Amino acid sequence: MTLAARRILIIGGGFSGMSAAIELRKLGAEVDLVEIDPGWRSYGAGISLGGATLRAFRTLGILEAFLAQGSATDGVHICLPHGVKVAELPTPRLAGPDVPGGGGIMRPVLARILGEATRAAGVNVFLGCTFTAIEQDAEGVEVGFTDGQRRRYELVIGADGLYSKVREAVFPNAPRPRYSGQAVWRAVLPRPAEIVTATMWMGPRVKPGVNPVSKTEMYLFVTEPRPTNDHVDPATFAQRLRELLADFPAPLLRQIREQIGEDSKIVFRPLEGLLMPQPWSSGRVVLIGDTVHATTPHLASGACIGIEDALVLAEELGRTADVAAALRAFEARRWERCRMVVENSARLGEIEVAGGDKEEHARIMRESLMALAQPI
Ligand SMILES: Cc1cc2nc3c(=O)[nH]c(=O)nc-3n(C[C@H](O)[C@H](O)[C@H](O)COP(=O)(O)OP(=O)(O)OC[C@H]3O[C@@H](n4cnc5c(N)ncnc54)[C@H](O)[C@@H]3O)c2cc1C
Repeated sequence: MTLAARRILIIGGGFSGMSAAIELRKLGAEVDLVEIDPGWRSYGAGISLGGATLRAFRTLGILEAFLAQGSATDGVHICLPHGVKVAELPTPRLAGPDVPGGGGIMRPVLARILGEATRAAGVNVFLGCTFTAIEQDAEGVEVGFTDGQRRRYELVIGADGLYSKVREAVFPNAPRPRYSGQAVWRAVLPRPAEIVTATMWMGPRVKPGVNPVSKTEMYLFVTEPRPTNDHVDPATFAQRLRELLADFPAPLLRQIREQIGEDSKIVFRPLEGLLMPQPWSSGRVVLIGDTVHATTPHLASGACIGIEDALVLAEELGRTADVAAALRAFEARRWERCRMVVENSARLGEIEVAGGDKEEHARIMRESLMALAQPI
């Protein structure tokens, strides 16, 4: 079987890195994956997924596990602050006629599904480990590790996320992540019977939403404009989240607000973005996922484009014996789609922060979701 690189190292065991590992094992590559967190944990509440992500899950072979442990539904409901539904965004069924066009799942559950698939694929996983040095020559890459080992690879994939050390080492002049002026609050709550799919309430500048993550639970997210990225005392989280929902008279949101108390598990996260200009590779080191294109979550597609990177990279490496040609083809296929997600998500955030044109917001949402439905 043609394969541009047979000994491959992946640095970072997030959604993108694990997906790359699974796909490359299918092609017969020998894959090492190093993950800095000894517990391989995944933080945060729920994650929303569009049809393109479910299509990628089908390719990866984890769709059945997702359907069993997460929630798959059609359409996104858009409501006014007092609760009237004004629009329903279509979510085309991209993973097959029998699979709804979107869904949600708890992040740690998705991480566990992918982690199990990674190990089952025969990937060598090294936890609590990272690189200390990456040195390239014409034929390969020599990598030193924190456990004292040194190994040689034909390709290194940097998938270590927004604050990537691989990016720092290989592209010292790459742009830094940029704060967007918006933060998001998230909490996991029991799912009322009325919540059947992703639902958002469009306030003037604050946008709450919910999405089911299982048969019994949903997660709440609330975006808030915050001009500066200041520390927020966790002791104030519950009170602040309740304040943000105070201007929404929708009965369902009132009911949800009542459930937020001091013992609720609330996650607060300032939103940052990054779009690294091409090239995304240097010699035999290539970057994927948030490492090169971290998006704010307005299109719920950050994980999607990272996982798609992994599928496309594996496809291109499996088409030729020439690493440079494969990496060029990978970038050419990925650039426009990833740029669209990062830039359109940023624009949606700007409109929300400014209390801007709701029609422009709805148009960008619709056009972006349609663009994401295209084949990768
Ligand atoms: C608040 C918020 C909400 C979001 N909501 C959604 C959503 O609803 N839907 C969606 O599709 N996307 C969403 N996203 C985006 C999505 O979470 C990311 O795009 C996705 O997790 C990126 O995966 P990744 O594997 O590229 O990077 P990461 O998830 O950052 O994974 C990087 C991995 O590398 C490891 N690592 C870090 N440094 C090193 C090192 N030096 N050596 C070895 N390992 C290292 C980390 O521990 C981690 O396991 C959201 C993002 C945010 C911030």
